[in-house]
Amino acid sequence: MKGVWIEKTGGTEVLQYKTDIQVPELKEGEVLVKNEYIGVNYIDTYFRTGLYAPPHYPYILGREGAGTIAALGPNTPSSLSLNSSVVYMHQFAYAEYTPVPAHMVVPLPPTISPKTAAAAIIQGLTALTLIRDAYPVQRGDWILVHAAAGGVGLWLVQLLKAVGARTIATASTAEKRELAKTYGAEVTLEYFDNGDVFVKKVLEVTGGKGVSAVFDGVGKATFDASLGSLARKGSLVSFGNASGAVPPVTISRLTTKNAKLLRPNLFTYISEEGELEKASAELWDFIVKDKMDPRIHEVYPLKDIVRVHQDLEGRKTTGKLLLQP
Ligand code: NDP
Repeated sequence: MKGVWIEKTGGTEVLQYKTDIQVPELKEGEVLVKNEYIGVNYIDTYFRTGLYAPPHYPYILGREGAGTIAALGPNTPSSLSLNSSVVYMHQFAYAEYTPVPAHMVVPLPPTISPKTAAAAIIQGLTALTLIRDAYPVQRGDWILVHAAAGGVGLWLVQLLKAVGARTIATASTAEKRELAKTYGAEVTLEYFDNGDVFVKKVLEVTGGKGVSAVFDGVGKATFDASLGSLARKGSLVSFGNASGAVPPVTISRLTTKNAKLLRPNLFTYISEEGELEKASAELWDFIVKDKMDPRIHEVYPLKDIVRVHQDLEGRKTTGKLLLQP
């Protein structure tokens, strides 16, 4: 089958597009998904660079896809049937076929296409669990969202608008900031090299109080300004490292504001039985009933994987990047 693997970590030159990978054999409780669309996530770059360690080599990158069930392994639940449409979150997605443990597979309702599902599941559920579990957002809260025109970012601004929060959005270009506004941000700001200038702007917007929460997927470059932007008792939710990992933090820095600092990951929020089904059903409802848009930047052929990673890391994209095998 076709697929993309790495044999070592590094720059985009380590990405190898292959056409002769063996179709994986299924283990107990796994299904084989024939991928129609594969979602690209920033985490894929962390496994490529080695910021997160690949478990073995060669290693097929990618963590989400949607398509049809091509084979059922031993002891899979009867709710999953051959040829049915599904979406999943699991490793080895940059390929024609991916073996997935049944509990990470979500059958698709007729209203959600595999393309929409592959574009939505990780980034949409991340945003949903951030606003529900990491910091339960209240109507009227001021919230700061960094990289607001990105994949998770555009979900956050839409969901925050839907629950009645007021969003301050950052992005690196005027076009991206305009996009974040179109999707629901009330105020947009540049990042500013000087964190103090940035914090002053946030305080101006929020009547001197600061924001109830910051959702920060940028990491190293924005951490200080994020902490500075918090209101008393605010929550800094640091959920990613697009600019690099946040260095160790001295806990006493939280004292002056009685601030909360969280470093959540999506998978721990949906790991108990029924949580993935419940959260994905809620996400489909937002897409169908609230007409939320999983904005797709581009559908790339899998063989163009080098350009895909270059575009994502080069900050040239907005919304979701998809691959087709
Ligand atoms: P995005 O589509 O948001 O792409 C990353 C964005 O980060 C860029 O578009 C860019 O926007 C911004 N950015 C800021 N600084 C840099 C930099 N130095 N280099 C590159 N980009 C930079 O990606 P995703 O939506 O896939 O992910 C967003 C974040 O969320 C990532 O940190 C990811 O790891 C995290 N994440 C965490 C999850 C979790 O469970 N904790 C789950 C899913 C995602 P701009 O140009 O506007 O600054």
